Amino acid sequence: MITEQCINCDVCEPECPNQAIFMGEEIYQIDPDRCTECVGHFDEPQCVQVCPVACIPINPQRIESKEALQAKYRLLMKLD
Ligand code: SF4
Ligand code: SF4
Repeated sequence: MITEQCINCDVCEPECPNQAIFMGEEIYQIDPDRCTECVGHFDEPQCVQVCPVACIPINPQRIESKEALQAKYRLLMKLD
């Protein structure tokens, strides 16, 4: 998730391999149904790596296992 500390620097959006990041009403947001925490694509969440103000924590309301994230990746990539 992206918190209100976001400064709309536009850096994270193009880095997302799942097109999960989009501009919301005031700041960027992440569609949790498209975010795999980069599982399947990269070892580390790319948006977290590039964010200059470290405002992309894991949403505590949406803790997902590696297996669930991998399954979401396969669904998004239409591998199943
Ligand atoms: S963690 Fe990866 S998949 Fe999720 S929003 Fe960030 S860049 Fe996109
Ligand atoms: S990289 Fe961080 S500050 Fe920049 S738009 Fe994305 S969430 Fe906001």
